[in-house]
Amino acid sequence: MRERERIARFFAPLTDGEPGSYHLTDDAALLEPPAGKKLVITTDSVIEGIHVLPGATPEQYAVKLMRRNLSDLAAMGATPWRYTLNLHTPPNLPDTWFAEFAATLAEEQQQFGLVLIGGDSTSGPAPIHTTLTCFGVIDGHPLRRRGAHAGDDIYVSGTIGDAALGLLLLQQKSTAMSPLIERYHQPQPRLSLGQALRAHASAAIDISDGLLTDLAHLIDASHVGAAIYRERIPLSPAAQQMLQHNSTAWDAILNGGDDYELCFTAPPTARTFLHTFAGTLSLPLTRIGSVSPAAGLTLYDHERTALPLSPNGWEHS
Ligand SMILES: [Mg+2]
Repeated sequence: MRERERIARFFAPLTDGEPGSYHLTDDAALLEPPAGKKLVITTDSVIEGIHVLPGATPEQYAVKLMRRNLSDLAAMGATPWRYTLNLHTPPNLPDTWFAEFAATLAEEQQQFGLVLIGGDSTSGPAPIHTTLTCFGVIDGHPLRRRGAHAGDDIYVSGTIGDAALGLLLLQQKSTAMSPLIERYHQPQPRLSLGQALRAHASAAIDISDGLLTDLAHLIDASHVGAAIYRERIPLSPAAQQMLQHNSTAWDAILNGGDDYELCFTAPPTARTFLHTFAGTLSLPLTRIGSVSPAAGLTLYDHERTALPLSPNGWEHS
């Protein structure tokens, strides 16, 4: 199928709901943000062999591509609105790949409230390279990485390390069906949490590169330090089980990426709200430490001994 035909057949239907997309038939889109709202814009890629394993399904590309971006909007407290899509694919990829990729994007649009407005596609040598630029909307100010104060509590949402442990299982060619593998393939952007935190948190970041790495980014941006307690880090039952058999799993939990949970700071006066709100969302919000005035990140074990840190979470270098 030729490129134009492919766009008309698989991608133009994803623009329904935004007349300014011109159904992908013009050179650019025309957007009018909702009255009084500001745009929050982020872009992320999913590349074969880097963000997904070689041979990943089109569904896995679409889900991870969309949710990596949505997680950044969640960290800013924004609401998803529109997006553009860039695809680079090898020439031998069958039409069914594009059909399944677009069908999954349609489901993601439905679930998260987005509409496609444009993009670009190229054909050439492997690997598959997909990029999405997400436009969110917000009333007023976004949540930022800067803003944490000494004495604030440090929280994480959900459970930490599942995706990195899931990736370990996949790399070990484990055939077991594990909820950890599910977490690797299907991250859940914490959009409702991020939107609510704008009124209660002092700073926030999404955990894409690993808890230690991303918390280090937050405290650097805020010009403060942090003390966190390893035994308070919330772990899923599957992660706890893996840790029992393999203590090196701690490295993946602390430094592995792809969880897409939120790490945020809030003054102790927010504890009551956060406790109640966690119940409303059915999402644990766990206090793992506190913000300190002096720069630097310290991790304590169950005996309150400072553990040596190697924040070798994935940094783009
Ligand atoms: Mg981020």
